[in-house]
Amino acid sequence: MAKIQQLDAHVANLIAAGEVVERPASVVKELMENAIDAGARALTVEIQNGGMSLIRLTDNGSGIPPEQAETAFLRHATSKLRTARDLDAIATLGFRGEALAAIAAVSRIELLTRTADAPLGISLLLEGGALRLREESGCPQGTTLLVRDLFFNTPARLKFMKRDAAEGAAVFSVVQKAALAHPELSIKFLRDGKQELLTPGDGKLSSVLYSVFGRDLAVGFTELQTVGEEVTVEGFVSLPACCRGTRGYQHFILNGRPIRSRLLMAAVEEAYKNQKMVGKFPACVLHLSVRPSTVDVNVHPAKTEVKFVSERKIFDVVYYAVLSALDAEGRHPPLEMKKPKRETAPPPLPNVPSAGGVQSMTTQQLRDGAPALSVRAAPLAIPTVTVQTELSLPKAEPRIAPPIPREEVPTKPPEDRPPRMTEPAPVRAEMPPESELLAEVSEERPWRIVGEVQATYIIVEQGEEIHFIDKHAAHERMHFDRMQKEDYVPMAQSLLEPIIFSLPPEERAVLLQQQPLLEDFGFSIEAFGGDALILRQLPSELLPAQAEEMLSELAEAFSQGARAKMELRERILHSVACKAAIKGGSKSAPEELLLVAEEVMSGAVKYCPHGRPVAVTLSRAQLERRFGRA
Ligand code: ADP
Ligand code: MG
Repeated sequence: MAKIQQLDAHVANLIAAGEVVERPASVVKELMENAIDAGARALTVEIQNGGMSLIRLTDNGSGIPPEQAETAFLRHATSKLRTARDLDAIATLGFRGEALAAIAAVSRIELLTRTADAPLGISLLLEGGALRLREESGCPQGTTLLVRDLFFNTPARLKFMKRDAAEGAAVFSVVQKAALAHPELSIKFLRDGKQELLTPGDGKLSSVLYSVFGRDLAVGFTELQTVGEEVTVEGFVSLPACCRGTRGYQHFILNGRPIRSRLLMAAVEEAYKNQKMVGKFPACVLHLSVRPSTVDVNVHPAKTEVKFVSERKIFDVVYYAVLSALDAEGRHPPLEMKKPKRETAPPPLPNVPSAGGVQSMTTQQLRDGAPALSVRAAPLAIPTVTVQTELSLPKAEPRIAPPIPREEVPTKPPEDRPPRMTEPAPVRAEMPPESELLAEVSEERPWRIVGEVQATYIIVEQGEEIHFIDKHAAHERMHFDRMQKEDYVPMAQSLLEPIIFSLPPEERAVLLQQQPLLEDFGFSIEAFGGDALILRQLPSELLPAQAEEMLSELAEAFSQGARAKMELRERILHSVACKAAIKGGSKSAPEELLLVAEEVMSGAVKYCPHGRPVAVTLSRAQLERRFGRA
C-alpha cells in the first residue's frame, strides 16, 4: 500500500476547485458574493465568450489591504470566520475561505485592489495559483478581479463546458439572482461588450423586477409582505394569468442569499392551485428572513440549498402569504393589444424537480393536516342552462348599478377563511407608470352591462374601462367555489328513467371502485351486467344528457392515476362545474348574465378552475393609443 501523505497545496486547491468552480457561473457567483461581503454599492460584471476567456468583476467595496492581498488566495483564508462558534451566526455570504484559492488554481488571475486608507493599491498576477507578479499601483478604492482562461490547466474540466452561449446564459442567471437579492446594489452586466442588465440600486425590489424581467412581465406581478413569527416574507408573485411556461422565473432569497428550495416552490405553487393553467408555473421573487440559527446553509458546497428547522411552519407562512396576495388582487389581466413577445426564459435551474415531484411532495407530505385550501365561495343558486328564444338585454336605458351594498356582496364569512398569518395585510403592488393597463375592480365603482357578444362574452363598462367577461369561465368558477366549500352537500336528483350505458372494462371497473366517492357527490351507479352500468342518481347541477360523457371522463381521469381522495374530489368538482356552467356559444337569460357579471365585478370570481382569467380589461387609454388619439 502507498504511504499516507498530506496533499501539497496545489493538488488540494485543484480538488477544492472541483467543488467550488464548476463553470464560469460559479466563479461569478463567488466573486459577486465577495464584493457584496466587502460592502460594495455598485458592481460591474463583464464576461467574454461565456466567461471562458474572461470574467471581470469590479466593485467599490472595502478593497483588500496590501499586506493581505496574497493571503486571500490561500486555501481556508478568510476574514469572515474565526471560530467554530461563528459558524452558527454567519451573516456574510462567503465563509469557507476557499473560493479565491480554488479559482486561482484553475485560471490566470489579475487582482487590483485598494482600501480607503492606503495611498496606493496593489496588483497581483497569478497563474494556476502561483504568484507571477506583485506591484503597487494606483487605482480607485475597491477591487477588480480578472479571471482569464478558466480551466486552462485542467483539460478534463474544460471538456465539460457547454457552448459559450449556454455558459453565458448561466452567468446571466447568477447575476440576475444577485440583483434580485440585492436591490440596494447597482449591478451592471456586460456580455461580450453588450450591456444586458443595469439595476439602479435604489433599494426597491420593484425596480429590480423591472430591470430583470422587463416591463411586460413586471406588470403581471403583485406585491406581498407577511411578518410571521418565524419568518418574514416579502416580494412579488405573478398573477395567475401571468404564470410562465417554466419554473425558471421562481426566485427565493433567504437572508440575502439566493437559494433553491423545493419546500418553497411547493408552498408557492400550492397557493395557485385551481387558479392557474396546467403546465404553467408561477413566477416569484420572494425574500425570506429568518434567524440564522433556524436554517442550516452548510448542506451544499455551493450553499444554494438550505434546510429549515421547521419546514411545516415556513411552508404555511409562504403558502398563506401568496394565497392572500392573490386573493386581494382585484385586477383583471389587460387585453393584449399587440402581439405578445416571444418568451425568452432564462435557462432552467439545474436539479429542479419535475412538476410531479413537487406536486406529490406538496400534497402528500406537506399539506397533510394543514387547513384545507379555501377558495372564495359564491353561495348563489344560479339556474342551469335555460335556452331562451330571444335575448332581451337592457339597451335603451343603460343600467348603472349602484354600489353593491356590503351585505349583498357574496363572499365567504370571515370564519370560513383560512387562518391568516399575515400581519400586516399584504401590500398592493406599486407599479407606477403601467398601472393604467390594468383595471382595479372595485365594488364602489358603478358599472353597466353593455351587452353580450358571440353568445360568449359579456361586455361591461366601468368608468374608463371595458371588461370582457367569459361567461362560461366565470360561471364555472362560481359552481366550483360553491362545491369546493367543505360543508357543501351535493343535491342528488333521482332519475325517473335510470340511464344505462357501457364503458370499456377498465373504465367501468375504475368507476365501480370509486363508487363511495361518487356517491358523496350525488352519483349512484351500479354494475348492470356485461360492460354496462346503470346510473340512478346524479348531482342536481348536471343534466341527465351530460351524465354519460362526464362519467366516462372521470373514469379516464381516475385510471390515469388520480388516486388520492383530494385529487379525485377535485376532478369531480372540475367536471361538474364545467358541465353545469352556462355554455359559451349558447344564449343565456339576461338574469344569468347579470348574476355572472355581478360575481365577477365584485371580485369574488377571478379565474376559472383551470386558471384561465374570467375577464380581461381594455382601457380607454389603450383604445385611444390604438386610434392615435393619445
Ligand atoms: P471567503 O469569501 O469565504 O472568505 P474567499 O476565498 O472568497 O473566501 O475570499 C478570501 C478573502 O479575500 C475574503 O475573506 C476577503 O477578506 C477577501 N476578499 C475577497 N474578495 C474581496 C473583495 N472583492 N473585496 C474585498 N475583500 C475581498
Ligand atoms: Mg468568498
